[in-house]
Amino acid sequence: MITLRSQREIELLKQAGHIVYLTHQHLRPYLKEGITTKELDQIAEAFILSQGATPSFKGYDGFPGSICTSINQEVVHGIPGNHKIKDGDIISIDIGACYKGYHGDSAWSYPVGKVSDEKAYLLKHTELALYEGLKQVKPGNRIGDIGCAIETYATAHHLGVVRELVGHGVGTNVHEEPDVPNYGSPHHGPVLKEGMVIAIEPMLNLGSQDICLCDDDWTVETLDGSPSAHFEHTIVVTKDGYQILTGE
Ligand code: MG
Ligand code: MG
Repeated sequence: MITLRSQREIELLKQAGHIVYLTHQHLRPYLKEGITTKELDQIAEAFILSQGATPSFKGYDGFPGSICTSINQEVVHGIPGNHKIKDGDIISIDIGACYKGYHGDSAWSYPVGKVSDEKAYLLKHTELALYEGLKQVKPGNRIGDIGCAIETYATAHHLGVVRELVGHGVGTNVHEEPDVPNYGSPHHGPVLKEGMVIAIEPMLNLGSQDICLCDDDWTVETLDGSPSAHFEHTIVVTKDGYQILTGE
Protein backbone atom coordinates (compact mmCIF):
# COMPACT_ATOMS: atom_id res chain seq x y z
CA MET A 1 0.00 0.00 0.00
CA ILE A 2 1.27 3.46 -0.87
CA THR A 3 0.58 5.93 1.93
CA LEU A 4 -0.21 9.59 1.30
CA ARG A 5 1.16 11.67 4.16
CA SER A 6 -0.70 14.38 6.02
CA GLN A 7 0.76 17.86 6.47
CA ARG A 8 1.65 16.96 10.06
CA GLU A 9 3.51 13.84 8.91
CA ILE A 10 5.29 15.75 6.14
CA GLU A 11 6.56 18.23 8.74
CA LEU A 12 8.06 15.35 10.74
CA LEU A 13 9.52 13.77 7.58
CA LYS A 14 11.09 17.15 6.78
CA GLN A 15 12.70 17.25 10.19
CA ALA A 16 14.02 13.70 9.82
CA GLY A 17 15.30 14.51 6.33
CA HIS A 18 16.99 17.66 7.56
CA ILE A 19 18.84 15.70 10.24
CA VAL A 20 20.10 13.34 7.52
CA TYR A 21 21.26 16.36 5.49
CA LEU A 22 23.02 17.87 8.51
CA THR A 23 24.73 14.54 9.23
CA HIS A 24 26.14 14.49 5.69
CA GLN A 25 27.45 18.05 6.15
CA HIS A 26 28.89 17.13 9.54
CA LEU A 27 30.81 14.16 8.06
CA ARG A 28 32.25 15.95 5.04
CA PRO A 29 35.31 17.51 6.71
CA TYR A 30 36.29 14.09 8.08
CA LEU A 31 36.47 12.44 4.64
CA LYS A 32 40.25 12.48 4.45
CA GLU A 33 42.94 9.88 3.94
CA GLY A 34 43.57 7.76 7.03
CA ILE A 35 40.20 7.83 8.75
CA THR A 36 38.49 4.46 9.15
CA THR A 37 34.92 3.82 8.10
CA LYS A 38 34.19 2.80 11.70
CA GLU A 39 35.30 6.24 12.90
CA LEU A 40 32.99 7.84 10.34
CA ASP A 41 30.18 5.63 11.60
CA GLN A 42 30.78 6.70 15.20
CA ILE A 43 30.89 10.39 14.26
CA ALA A 44 27.63 10.05 12.31
CA GLU A 45 25.89 8.09 15.05
CA ALA A 46 26.86 10.60 17.76
CA PHE A 47 25.61 13.45 15.57
CA ILE A 48 22.28 11.78 14.76
CA LEU A 49 21.69 11.06 18.46
CA SER A 50 22.59 14.68 19.33
CA GLN A 51 19.72 15.78 17.07
CA GLY A 52 17.19 13.72 19.01
CA ALA A 53 17.02 11.07 16.27
CA THR A 54 18.19 7.48 15.91
CA PRO A 55 20.10 5.87 13.01
CA SER A 56 17.55 4.09 10.81
CA PHE A 57 19.94 1.43 9.56
CA LYS A 58 21.43 0.26 12.86
CA GLY A 59 20.01 -3.18 13.50
CA TYR A 60 17.93 -3.09 10.29
CA ASP A 61 17.81 -6.79 9.37
CA GLY A 62 20.80 -7.05 11.71
CA PHE A 63 22.96 -4.42 9.96
CA PRO A 64 25.78 -3.65 12.41
CA GLY A 65 26.54 -0.02 11.45
CA SER A 66 24.71 3.27 11.84
CA ILE A 67 25.56 4.30 8.27
CA CYS A 68 26.65 2.42 5.15
CA THR A 69 30.13 3.18 3.82
CA SER A 70 30.83 1.81 0.34
CA ILE A 71 34.21 2.44 -1.26
CA ASN A 72 35.17 2.40 -4.97
CA GLN A 73 33.75 -0.83 -6.49
CA GLU A 74 31.39 -1.25 -3.54
CA VAL A 75 27.89 -0.23 -4.61
CA VAL A 76 25.93 -0.13 -1.37
CA HIS A 77 25.61 -1.58 2.16
CA GLY A 78 29.30 -1.46 3.02
CA ILE A 79 29.76 -2.21 6.73
CA PRO A 80 31.86 0.35 8.64
CA GLY A 81 35.04 -1.23 9.97
CA ASN A 82 38.80 -0.86 10.26
CA HIS A 83 39.35 -0.05 6.61
CA LYS A 84 41.10 3.31 6.14
CA ILE A 85 40.04 5.48 3.24
CA LYS A 86 42.77 6.91 1.05
CA ASP A 87 43.39 9.63 -1.51
CA GLY A 88 41.85 8.72 -4.83
CA ASP A 89 38.99 6.70 -3.32
CA ILE A 90 35.36 7.50 -3.77
CA ILE A 91 33.16 6.75 -0.79
CA SER A 92 29.40 6.45 -0.86
CA ILE A 93 27.80 7.26 2.45
CA ASP A 94 24.19 6.26 3.00
CA ILE A 95 22.49 7.81 6.03
CA GLY A 96 19.07 7.17 7.51
CA ALA A 97 17.65 8.90 10.58
CA CYS A 98 14.41 8.37 12.45
CA TYR A 99 12.87 11.37 14.20
CA LYS A 100 9.68 11.02 16.23
CA GLY A 101 8.84 7.87 14.28
CA TYR A 102 9.53 9.23 10.78
CA HIS A 103 12.52 8.51 8.60
CA GLY A 104 14.79 10.35 6.18
CA ASP A 105 17.18 8.57 3.80
CA SER A 106 19.94 10.05 1.66
CA ALA A 107 23.13 8.73 0.11
CA TRP A 108 25.93 10.76 -1.41
CA SER A 109 29.21 9.76 -3.02
CA TYR A 110 32.28 11.82 -2.23
CA PRO A 111 35.80 12.01 -3.63
CA VAL A 112 38.64 11.51 -1.14
CA GLY A 113 41.44 13.90 -2.07
CA LYS A 114 42.13 13.93 -5.80
CA VAL A 115 40.34 11.25 -7.79
CA SER A 116 40.84 10.08 -11.37
CA ASP A 117 39.00 11.78 -14.22
CA GLU A 118 36.97 8.60 -14.67
CA LYS A 119 35.80 8.62 -11.06
CA ALA A 120 35.02 12.34 -11.23
CA TYR A 121 32.96 11.65 -14.36
CA LEU A 122 31.06 8.89 -12.56
CA LEU A 123 30.30 11.13 -9.56
CA LYS A 124 29.17 14.05 -11.71
CA HIS A 125 26.87 12.05 -13.94
CA THR A 126 25.37 9.90 -11.19
CA GLU A 127 24.39 13.06 -9.32
CA LEU A 128 22.97 14.55 -12.51
CA ALA A 129 21.04 11.31 -13.13
CA LEU A 130 19.33 11.79 -9.76
CA TYR A 131 18.20 15.25 -10.86
CA GLU A 132 17.00 13.88 -14.21
CA GLY A 133 14.79 11.51 -12.23
CA LEU A 134 13.58 14.30 -9.95
CA LYS A 135 12.47 16.38 -12.95
CA GLN A 136 9.79 13.77 -13.60
CA VAL A 137 8.21 14.07 -10.16
CA LYS A 138 4.79 15.69 -10.18
CA PRO A 139 1.25 14.45 -9.60
CA GLY A 140 -0.04 12.43 -12.53
CA ASN A 141 3.37 11.22 -13.70
CA ARG A 142 4.30 7.64 -12.89
CA ILE A 143 7.14 5.82 -11.16
CA GLY A 144 8.25 4.50 -14.58
CA ASP A 145 8.80 8.06 -15.79
CA ILE A 146 11.41 8.55 -13.06
CA GLY A 147 13.22 5.31 -13.81
CA CYS A 148 13.15 5.90 -17.55
CA ALA A 149 14.70 9.36 -17.15
CA ILE A 150 17.51 7.99 -14.97
CA GLU A 151 18.17 5.02 -17.24
CA THR A 152 18.14 7.15 -20.39
CA TYR A 153 20.59 9.63 -18.89
CA ALA A 154 22.89 6.90 -17.52
CA THR A 155 22.91 4.97 -20.77
CA ALA A 156 23.67 8.11 -22.78
CA HIS A 157 26.70 8.56 -20.53
CA HIS A 158 27.79 4.92 -20.85
CA LEU A 159 27.19 4.08 -17.19
CA GLY A 160 25.82 0.75 -15.95
CA VAL A 161 22.47 0.98 -14.12
CA VAL A 162 22.21 -1.34 -11.11
CA ARG A 163 18.82 -3.05 -11.37
CA GLU A 164 18.63 -5.32 -8.34
CA LEU A 165 18.51 -2.42 -5.87
CA VAL A 166 15.88 0.30 -6.12
CA GLY A 167 14.49 3.40 -4.45
CA HIS A 168 11.43 3.16 -2.24
CA GLY A 169 8.71 4.87 -0.29
CA VAL A 170 9.74 6.48 3.01
CA GLY A 171 7.58 7.11 6.08
CA THR A 172 7.17 5.40 9.42
CA ASN A 173 9.40 2.70 7.93
CA VAL A 174 12.59 3.55 6.09
CA HIS A 175 11.63 1.20 3.25
CA GLU A 176 8.01 1.26 2.14
CA GLU A 177 6.04 0.83 -1.05
CA PRO A 178 6.39 1.65 -3.85
CA ASP A 179 9.64 0.41 -5.36
CA VAL A 180 11.32 3.17 -7.35
CA PRO A 181 13.60 1.48 -9.92
CA ASN A 182 16.32 3.31 -11.79
CA TYR A 183 14.96 1.96 -15.06
CA GLY A 184 11.49 1.76 -16.50
CA SER A 185 9.03 2.67 -19.18
CA PRO A 186 7.26 6.02 -19.49
CA HIS A 187 3.62 6.05 -18.34
CA HIS A 188 4.08 2.78 -16.42
CA GLY A 189 3.97 2.00 -12.73
CA PRO A 190 2.15 3.62 -9.81
CA VAL A 191 0.83 7.15 -10.35
CA LEU A 192 2.53 9.89 -8.32
CA LYS A 193 0.17 11.75 -5.99
CA GLU A 194 0.53 14.75 -3.71
CA GLY A 195 1.71 13.59 -0.29
CA MET A 196 3.69 10.56 -1.51
CA VAL A 197 7.18 10.42 0.00
CA ILE A 198 9.82 8.48 -1.92
CA ALA A 199 13.57 8.01 -2.03
CA ILE A 200 15.08 8.24 -5.51
CA GLU A 201 18.55 6.72 -5.61
CA PRO A 202 20.46 5.95 -8.79
CA MET A 203 23.35 3.52 -8.33
CA LEU A 204 25.52 3.75 -11.44
CA ASN A 205 28.68 1.89 -12.42
CA LEU A 206 31.59 2.93 -14.63
CA GLY A 207 31.48 -0.58 -16.06
CA SER A 208 28.69 -3.09 -16.50
CA GLN A 209 25.48 -3.11 -14.48
CA ASP A 210 26.24 -6.51 -12.91
CA ILE A 211 26.75 -6.78 -9.16
CA CYS A 212 27.56 -9.46 -6.60
CA LEU A 213 27.23 -9.93 -2.85
CA CYS A 214 30.41 -10.09 -0.76
CA ASP A 215 31.22 -12.74 1.84
CA ASP A 216 30.03 -10.48 4.67
CA ASP A 217 26.49 -10.96 3.26
CA TRP A 218 25.93 -7.20 3.17
CA THR A 219 28.35 -5.39 0.90
CA VAL A 220 27.26 -5.27 -2.73
CA GLU A 221 30.05 -4.82 -5.29
CA THR A 222 30.30 -4.46 -9.04
CA LEU A 223 31.05 -7.82 -10.65
CA ASP A 224 33.73 -6.35 -12.93
CA GLY A 225 35.38 -4.35 -10.12
CA SER A 226 34.58 -1.00 -11.72
CA PRO A 227 33.79 1.97 -9.45
CA SER A 228 30.19 2.68 -8.49
CA ALA A 229 28.41 5.81 -7.23
CA HIS A 230 25.16 6.38 -5.36
CA PHE A 231 23.16 9.59 -4.96
CA GLU A 232 19.85 9.61 -3.09
CA HIS A 233 17.31 12.13 -1.88
CA THR A 234 14.05 11.61 -0.03
CA ILE A 235 11.37 13.84 -1.56
CA VAL A 236 7.68 14.59 -1.14
CA VAL A 237 5.36 14.97 -4.11
CA THR A 238 3.73 18.41 -3.92
CA LYS A 239 0.76 19.94 -5.73
CA ASP A 240 2.86 20.92 -8.73
CA GLY A 241 6.16 19.06 -8.37
CA TYR A 242 8.29 17.96 -5.46
CA GLN A 243 10.25 19.14 -2.48
CA ILE A 244 13.57 17.60 -1.43
CA LEU A 245 13.40 16.63 2.26
CA THR A 246 17.07 15.68 2.65
CA GLY A 247 18.52 18.88 1.23
CA GLU A 248 19.35 22.25 2.84
MG1 MG B 1 19.76 5.35 1.56
MG1 MG C 1 17.11 4.39 0.26
